[in-house]
Amino acid sequence: MKKWLTSVGLCWVVLSAAAQQEEEMRCGLYHSAELRQKMAYFFEHVEKLGQVPSNTRTENIIYRIPLIFHVFHYGEPIGTGTNISAAQIYSQIEVLNEDFRRLNANRTETLPEFQSVAADVGIEFYPAAYDSAGRLLPERGIRRYQIQRIPGFFWTNETLDRDLKPQTIWDPTRYLNIWVIDSLRLNNRVGLAYAQFPDLSSLQGLPQQGGLALTDGLVIRYNRIGSFEKVNVPQLARGPYNLGRTLTHEMGHFLGLLHPFDGYSCNTDGDFCPDTPPTNAENFRCNLNVRYCSNSPTPTMIQNYMDFTDDFCMNLFTQCQAQRMRRVLEVSPRRRELVTSTVGLEAEELRAEVRVYPNPTRENLTVEIYGAQPIAYRLYDIWGREVEAANWAAGYALSLSLSGKPKGLYLLQVNTLGGGVIMRRVVIE
Ligand SMILES: [Zn+2]
Repeated sequence: MKKWLTSVGLCWVVLSAAAQQEEEMRCGLYHSAELRQKMAYFFEHVEKLGQVPSNTRTENIIYRIPLIFHVFHYGEPIGTGTNISAAQIYSQIEVLNEDFRRLNANRTETLPEFQSVAADVGIEFYPAAYDSAGRLLPERGIRRYQIQRIPGFFWTNETLDRDLKPQTIWDPTRYLNIWVIDSLRLNNRVGLAYAQFPDLSSLQGLPQQGGLALTDGLVIRYNRIGSFEKVNVPQLARGPYNLGRTLTHEMGHFLGLLHPFDGYSCNTDGDFCPDTPPTNAENFRCNLNVRYCSNSPTPTMIQNYMDFTDDFCMNLFTQCQAQRMRRVLEVSPRRRELVTSTVGLEAEELRAEVRVYPNPTRENLTVEIYGAQPIAYRLYDIWGREVEAANWAAGYALSLSLSGKPKGLYLLQVNTLGGGVIMRRVVIE
């Protein structure tokens, strides 16, 4: 028990039988002084390890992380019950991208006092295109597993970490693994989700925590993933945790963030971020006027994604939080590799036979394929949605007009006569 107490961040919500009136809590192990101490040590060393030459600027780099969602279900048709739809999953990816790029619709509601510290974290997430053997996934970013329903059984973080995760994890240096399960109990309470903090093992003076690679990633219940604002599925109908912020919060832990209130004092910087004002308590629901610390010049920052407020209430990461998460991606084992993973982008064996130009492009794109006979193409946006599809006219070259399409990252998929699939990343600017 002690081991995971210090190595994971756990979040839960308490659901009583009378689910509408229950006392709800977002997160569990926030009283751990030991954890806080370790993270302090981690960040101290991360700061040293992560120093980049002064002529290198990384602030403008957008880091992109490929996701694989392992969906465990009871054999229901796709889109029903625990066998959640791709659309529900893609709505979650959309929320992550909005929140981490500060494109969330409710960013305008950030209190004026905090607008200047609110940050575009510069991290994006996309569904993996290929499985670990290099085969194209039938559903981008999704692997489904049918399991048996056992009456009375529920998952705990111990059974997940011991059994389910090690048996199903894909290389955590190439994929960010997210397990979607039907039940979760943390300390005998119904849980929302939990995340594993960045591994500390390569850092001086810290104990090895063996086996962590086999459990690295995030776990979330099937009815807490995605946003009801974006996808109309019955399991997301009930709030207040139905807008996808559970995973935003957990991703913060995965990338090394603590809660702003973790110091439980008006005089301690609980999360090592000076721009999240110290506070001595967590917050629920959405009371914007709350000011726990009378010595603070500002209200408590209850809109921070790392507090416990309702999904609709949350709307910012700060500059300091953004820097810390980016630093973790630059130096931490199994985090730094993710940003250069190509599982979502290209089939290496075909790379030399394809030309796509100009790329980035503003409107016209030419695709040339040699050594295979193209028969059809599809264009997907970063959420995995098909935005265009057509058969390939005769010849080896194709001209596409992309004018009018939103700027951003796209994936071009070309099917060949021999059954091959060629994927290329296309940027419209
Ligand atoms: Zn938390």
